[in-house]
Amino acid sequence: MKIKKESIIFIIVTFGMLFLLSDISKSDLEAASGALYKHKILRIVVDPGHGGKDPGAIGPRGEKEKDITLALSMELAMRLHEQGFEVFLTRKGDTFIPLEERTAFANRMKAGLFISVHVNANDKASLQGVETYFLNLTTDPSAIKVADRENAIASKSMSDLQFIIKDLTLNAKINESSRFATSIQKSIISSLGKSGNTYKDHGVKQAPFYVLMGAQMPAILIETGFITNAKECKLLQKKSYQNSIVNGIISGINVYVTKSNYAYNSRNS
Ligand SMILES: [Zn+2]
Repeated sequence: MKIKKESIIFIIVTFGMLFLLSDISKSDLEAASGALYKHKILRIVVDPGHGGKDPGAIGPRGEKEKDITLALSMELAMRLHEQGFEVFLTRKGDTFIPLEERTAFANRMKAGLFISVHVNANDKASLQGVETYFLNLTTDPSAIKVADRENAIASKSMSDLQFIIKDLTLNAKINESSRFATSIQKSIISSLGKSGNTYKDHGVKQAPFYVLMGAQMPAILIETGFITNAKECKLLQKKSYQNSIVNGIISGINVYVTKSNYAYNSRNS
């Protein structure tokens, strides 16, 4: 009888302690994760398209895509750094970097976001405007054409459908990349609008870009304008126009990371 009473007391005390412990650990964990979230710095890899022996698209007066992407990316990286983000560039000068090494670098750096900066080209010189891409298969002939041009320097052929599908199922963060692309596209358009520039919003598109393949974080490619359009080509080289695009990209990043914790939570270190 006596033993039974002690047992009951023991059980009650044990359960009470467990309850208390579980309560403490839960609130402690919440506080700790909140603090961690606040102090976790997002690491972003900015990728200036092309470089070195690969000039990218060429403008009407011999302007090179690789020079515009570098200027835009250097400004973007500097401004993001000022805002407290941790930023790494795939290139800081006129160097050639294979497409696969750019995403591999972002994976190695355990980046939370990957942004590849490009300038568009088209046979139709009147075509101008901005479009943002994420990695996926597509049936849109104009998107295929853009991807073909951007993939031209790739060592592997993108015609291997099996290879692309395997990567999409294993690595691609399609939904997150799509959300990220939407934030960026909207913000660039809004920023260009505020600066009083004429532009065309080509929206968010998807295509199999080699440079986005294998990325283990939300990854996008921005076509910031058309180098083949004389007026837009001129604007893209102007500091004020570059700043408008950079402002748009930065506010797009801020909108995306505020809405989604994905970029923070997916980071391992
Ligand atoms: Zn390009």
